[in-house]
Amino acid sequence: MANRVLIIGAGHAGGTAAALLRQYGHEGSIVLAGEEPAAPYQRPPLSKAWLKGEADLEALLLRPESFYEEHEVELRTGATATAIDPAARRVSFADGTVEPYDALILATGSRARRLAIPGADRPELMELRTLADAERLKAALGPGRRLAIVGGGYVGLEAAASARALGAEAVVIERMDRVLARVASETLSAFFTARHRSEGVEVLTGAEVTAFEDAGVRLADGRLIEADALLVGVGAVACDDLARAAGLECGNGVIVDEQARTSDPAIWAIGDATFRPIPVHGGRRRRLESVPNALEQAKQAASAIVGRPAPAPEVPWFWSDQYDLKLQIAGLPDGADRQIVRGDPGVIGEGASFAVFHLEGDRILCVEAVNAPAEFMAGRMMIGKATPVDAVKLADPSVSMKLVAAG
Ligand code: FAD
Repeated sequence: MANRVLIIGAGHAGGTAAALLRQYGHEGSIVLAGEEPAAPYQRPPLSKAWLKGEADLEALLLRPESFYEEHEVELRTGATATAIDPAARRVSFADGTVEPYDALILATGSRARRLAIPGADRPELMELRTLADAERLKAALGPGRRLAIVGGGYVGLEAAASARALGAEAVVIERMDRVLARVASETLSAFFTARHRSEGVEVLTGAEVTAFEDAGVRLADGRLIEADALLVGVGAVACDDLARAAGLECGNGVIVDEQARTSDPAIWAIGDATFRPIPVHGGRRRRLESVPNALEQAKQAASAIVGRPAPAPEVPWFWSDQYDLKLQIAGLPDGADRQIVRGDPGVIGEGASFAVFHLEGDRILCVEAVNAPAEFMAGRMMIGKATPVDAVKLADPSVSMKLVAAG
């Protein structure tokens, strides 16, 4: 068993791995080093409840600050790792310190993608990744303010909903012909566009931003979208620089196996930073940016390090909250040959509830559920077990999901 475990990145995955190592009986030392000033916290509320003022810092923390001392986890905040020496099993930090390890877990997450266009380095441009980013954004919102959001992905849409809740105007500028184009079905895109518009959000699609200017955002067709606050939410890239420089195998992130092991037997990698296989989807590799993925891989790494059996593979899933809508997605749609819609996506306000199932033959590969927890739960279970489904029953909301799942 590795005596000294060093975790780089004190976010959702790193913080969870530290706690699990102790829970699983690791008796050696654990050093949890992260560059942010705060103890590990949850990012999802930064664009939702926290941004709207419905949650405080305490509520964001993964565990109370006292947890780390009580469980003998040495938490080093404000500590930026600069290099790994895999041969010597040591990590160097920006402050000149060096930490040795027997086992190293890389949990460095991802960072906001930046646009390479004129004005992209203007200091007023905001991104939303950290608590500090969220504090800045929150200070810029309120009645009479107009927020322009570049990117119609989850973070952008959640920020738009929160901006409206705070009384600000919001315009979402999306380059593709629909919002959520990379991550959701057309049905979902159309539904969220309609709902955001009904809430007063201006949603522009097929709108390519070519420059940031004093007054706002310039589009390829010459239009100027005026705004007094600018948020860029165009996706994230893996923080895999340390791993690359150390010679670890990388693709779209650090390449790991089903137990979160990298190409170096003493180094694991977990969370947003990894390019991982997904066993329930035939081992296909993906870089997943979600809390459930961070938790699953933290379990894998902690289990492997303490010598416990590997945890059972999970179905990837994700959620997003916008207005009174809870979106839950399980599985991956790649390879699906048809979609089945259950419920009415045309109802966008009160009573909105539907699910889109992506099928390959008679197997569900993915479910996108809006205010439809039974569809999500049953769908996720059926994906995991590869349960054959009767498409006619599935499409009929009068047949309960329990019956559908029973075959
Ligand atoms: P992170 O939590 O990002 O932690 C990585 C940490 O590593 C950071 O603190 C970083 O500073 C640190 N680090 C990086 N490099 C170094 C270094 N060299 N030295 C030291 N420290 C370093 N997921 C969902 O499932 N549902 C949601 O609704 C949802 N909403 C989100 C909303 C927002 C605004 C954001 C930003 C993310 C959201 N996510 C959501 C994604 C989710 O938060 C991430 O998938 C999760 O945080 C990944 O955990 P992680 O530990 O891999 O990365």
